[in-house]
Amino acid sequence: MGKVPRILSWRNMLVLSLAVNVSLVLRILKGSDGGNSSYVSIWPVVSTSLDRTVYDNKWPVVSTTASGSSSLSSASCIYNETQEDDDRIINLKLGDPMVYERYWQQMGHMTTMVIPGWQSLSYFSDNNNELCWFLEPELAKEIVRVHKVVGNAVTQDRYIVVGTGSTQLYQAALYALSPHDDSGPINVVSASPYYCSYPLITDCLKSGLYRWGGDAKGYKEEGPYIELVTSPNNPDGFLRESVVNRSEGILIHDLAYYWPQYTPITSIADHDVMLFTASKSTGHAGMRIGWALVKDKETARKMTEYIELNTIGVSKVSQLRVAKVLKAVSDSCSNETFKSFFEHSYDAMSERWKLLKQASKTSKGFTLPVFDSQRCSFFGKVFEPQPAFAWLKCEEGIVDCEKFLREEKNILTKSGKYFGDDLSYVRLSMLDRDSTFNILLHRISSSFNSSTL
Ligand code: PMP
Repeated sequence: MGKVPRILSWRNMLVLSLAVNVSLVLRILKGSDGGNSSYVSIWPVVSTSLDRTVYDNKWPVVSTTASGSSSLSSASCIYNETQEDDDRIINLKLGDPMVYERYWQQMGHMTTMVIPGWQSLSYFSDNNNELCWFLEPELAKEIVRVHKVVGNAVTQDRYIVVGTGSTQLYQAALYALSPHDDSGPINVVSASPYYCSYPLITDCLKSGLYRWGGDAKGYKEEGPYIELVTSPNNPDGFLRESVVNRSEGILIHDLAYYWPQYTPITSIADHDVMLFTASKSTGHAGMRIGWALVKDKETARKMTEYIELNTIGVSKVSQLRVAKVLKAVSDSCSNETFKSFFEHSYDAMSERWKLLKQASKTSKGFTLPVFDSQRCSFFGKVFEPQPAFAWLKCEEGIVDCEKFLREEKNILTKSGKYFGDDLSYVRLSMLDRDSTFNILLHRISSSFNSSTL
């Protein structure tokens, strides 16, 4: 072996290696797709920011025109492009409303607030409201306005009680509506499949005032009872009415999903106690604000009393933020340049349901509820419900659907057993980010064969 020629000396090797590395770094800087990508990074990209870039490119909410003004884009998300599926577990157990993130990221300037340190010192709100003394007047005003704009609930001659999420209001309503004599706990029922948190919340403190009474469909006991009517229903998305229908029944209507992105608005809801929440209407679950529209003054007073005992009111900061968000939503409905919040979220849900239904047809391994189309007074058009959850039934001999999806598909869902139904059903969230929904579609469209589970 001769000596290594001078041209390949260690110094030259060093320079060569440096050049190769610099060129690699430059390639990454330009983007791996031949320089078309606007995404610039030389660091390993954490999955959320990568997802966000893909999502941005696919579904811009606001497009900027040549004149510099911006308008809501009508482009919809392209879900059929296969998202990178790295076999990670996707969690669709909860209805975390991240589908709304895109809208609020781009319309967020309308809801940005600066709250100085001298504000929100008092427990009290300056509202001349001798009933719900902690309700911020601005929030009350925007609640009334958004219901008027959408036409989904009567607000006239109703008392508004604000709560830390509608979860607190549900408990306040139970406290207010249960007999406080020594007749023993009143039964609380709901038709299966019912919202899985009802039994847990109802019984968590083993109250002497009320107890979980199970499925309303088979309820036969004499005497007063409370029936929860969730419409549209969580988990299956159907519009509902009470099923027990006895004169001694006291009704609580949970209308968390009675908004036009999920269901046609078929009438103006007019019930004794109606619960709503920012979590599902605008997607602001983290602000923890719900509201009740209550017909009877004494019921509203007792609900307020419960919240006073439980948390001495409700965060003012959260109330102000939700007021601002609701204002932006109502304003968006009268703005000709932008797609309204509801148009935008309707389109998102519609696209997802279309694709999920297609996947169900292709795969044949699972079925979905079949909905009737109805006319929506808000949009002035006929459409089928497109709920926040898919109530999915495994077919092809799969007995335990939750187990199958978890073990075979790395998809976490909530088993039908928690909703008073059987193991062949699961509830899965339709509200996650696009990137997660893409992975769901991809996995669920492939073979469902398993006779062992
Ligand atoms: N009711 C129903 C039917 C729900 O689905 C939810 C949220 N999953 C709630 C109430 C609770 O909402 P919040 O976040 O306002 O407590």
